[in-house]
Amino acid sequence: MDSLIDDIIISVGGTPSTRPMASAEIIPGIHVVRGKFAGEFGFIASYLIVDESEVLVIDPGTAGDPGDRLEKAIKNLGLDPKSDLVGILCTHGHPDHAAGVGRLKKSTGAPVMIHKADEELLQTPAKFLNERLMMDRAERFSMKLDKGPLRVNYRGAEADELITHGQNISVGETTLKVVHTGGHSAGHCVFYDVKNKALFSGDEVNNFPNDPRKFYVDISGSIVAKLAALEVLSKLGADHLFPAHDTPHLFADVRLQFEAVRDGVVHLQDTLLTLLSARGDADIEQFVFDIRQARSVPIPQSYDALLTTTIHVTLEGLKEAGLVRELGNGVWTRVG
Ligand SMILES: [Zn+2]
Repeated sequence: MDSLIDDIIISVGGTPSTRPMASAEIIPGIHVVRGKFAGEFGFIASYLIVDESEVLVIDPGTAGDPGDRLEKAIKNLGLDPKSDLVGILCTHGHPDHAAGVGRLKKSTGAPVMIHKADEELLQTPAKFLNERLMMDRAERFSMKLDKGPLRVNYRGAEADELITHGQNISVGETTLKVVHTGGHSAGHCVFYDVKNKALFSGDEVNNFPNDPRKFYVDISGSIVAKLAALEVLSKLGADHLFPAHDTPHLFADVRLQFEAVRDGVVHLQDTLLTLLSARGDADIEQFVFDIRQARSVPIPQSYDALLTTTIHVTLEGLKEAGLVRELGNGVWTRVG
């Protein structure tokens, strides 16, 4: 990423500035701290919830960005990160949102909260590359050298509290309800602020800011869980959708986001089934080849492993539904 474009942040009101601002209040009590522009990942977003002299951070981002600006943002709000930060809450354990946890915890002492199924990623970040993505050795090596938002160049952190589905988390008078979604990764949770009708959706509702139909899941994730979660979340009646990448969505746009994400998932399922009908049987490499050729499926461009892994997990979902089966050696075929 180049330094100039790196530093360009569109501030509220749309004026480009070369200096990232500390934070911007989106609705009363909810602030966003945005990182540098990260290509197809957009701007990585951390959120601060402020109420009654208490502040909670949702998703600190990567170790340097915006993770290193959160304390300053809290101070700029007239609060003390050491005494007023009541928690560091993670939607999930991926590097682009959880790498900044360790630094923030170390300097503030605030308790870290994450779902049990993603706790190991927080403790041992290398597991992201080694266990959560389908990669061959060459890909693993190149991802280790990568400088993008999924780089694993940070130390692990211990969780202080394991959050569970249905639990309430308080910040002053504000209450966040934990909804375990488990689609994007096994431990993925979203947080619903009932009072403000605001949903902090992490990477579950949309992964990529430029196309909500484009998505990926890690190998612990589940397409079945993702579709079920989208169904439940779309009925909450949220007025505000705050994803972990890029811009908030408001009102009618919230509904459109749910629809587009669901369309993307269903479209990938349909495409895999169509390809299998045409080929008779196929392995992951053939699926990847065909999907790249087809150009009708929006796919992540930055890392090959994201597509490979997502196809694998999607096939597992179709297997659960009785639509495909594995012949062995990674070769799949349609049932019936
Ligand atoms: Zn993620």
